Amino acid sequence: KPIISFKNVNKVYPNGTQGLKDLNIEIHPGEFVIVVGLSGAGKSTMLRSINRLHEISSGEIVIDGKSITHAKGKNLRLIRRDIGMIFQSFNLIKRSTVLKNVLTGRVAYHSTFKTFFGLFPKEDKELAYESLQRVNLAEKVYARADELSGGQQQRVSIARALAQRPKIFLADEPVASLDPITTEKVMDDLKRINQDLGITIVVNLHSVALAREYGTRIIGLRAGELVFDGPVEEATDET
Ligand code: ADP
Ligand code: ADP
Repeated sequence: KPIISFKNVNKVYPNGTQGLKDLNIEIHPGEFVIVVGLSGAGKSTMLRSINRLHEISSGEIVIDGKSITHAKGKNLRLIRRDIGMIFQSFNLIKRSTVLKNVLTGRVAYHSTFKTFFGLFPKEDKELAYESLQRVNLAEKVYARADELSGGQQQRVSIARALAQRPKIFLADEPVASLDPITTEKVMDDLKRINQDLGITIVVNLHSVALAREYGTRIIGLRAGELVFDGPVEEATDET
């Protein structure tokens, strides 16, 4: 049974741009999917539709058997709890410690009152520490986020998503601002998380070479339309 389904999904922006066109995609638990396409192809729109950071115009997106498109209030929050997200620009609280940043991944599990005052239970701190160990940053728990290199910051944001205990990881151009060596490290972390924890991962990349190296399944978009969906071996530079 798929963990993510796109059913006839369309997204039209208010200015008339068709972000996504008649998208039908099924992603199964444990898959490592890479979405490729030129700038403007719809990759970001597709990814942000999965956790409803962007609203779609028609069709439906179903997450683990539940329609996120039609979910409201608490049900929407519960579905979103299962989806961790990583951004190109890391989206960390720059002046906070690494630990505090990772703990924000736990916010979805607590009342906003407590988390506003930074009152996280001990189990959360243990989980945060464990998540940092997975990305080899345990020694940086008390460093300030903005003192870290770009690659380290991205790994903090991976740890933050991990601390959320999600079933799905979405990564929107996670390596676009990183150098080649750091890129490999971040991609290796994602691959390891996929293999060791079985978390389903969907990553947007503009590098087809990188997609070939890491993906098992590649989805190609062009002007919001699906132009390729298959195993990495069948993907060409045209994809
Ligand atoms: P990609 O991630 O592949 O670069 P996007 O999903 O960001 O592509 O964009 C898909 C298309 O939708 C592009 O033509 C882009 O200019 C347009 N688009 C994205 N966001 C908006 C927006 N907020 N308003 C209008 N058009 C947008
Ligand atoms: P990020 O760096 O986080 O991936 P982008 O630089 O792609 O974000 O886009 C920044 C914001 O601008 C996004 O919210 C996106 O939806 C919006 N955007 C992108 N393309 C357009 C567009 N053609 N018209 C209006 N807004 C756009």
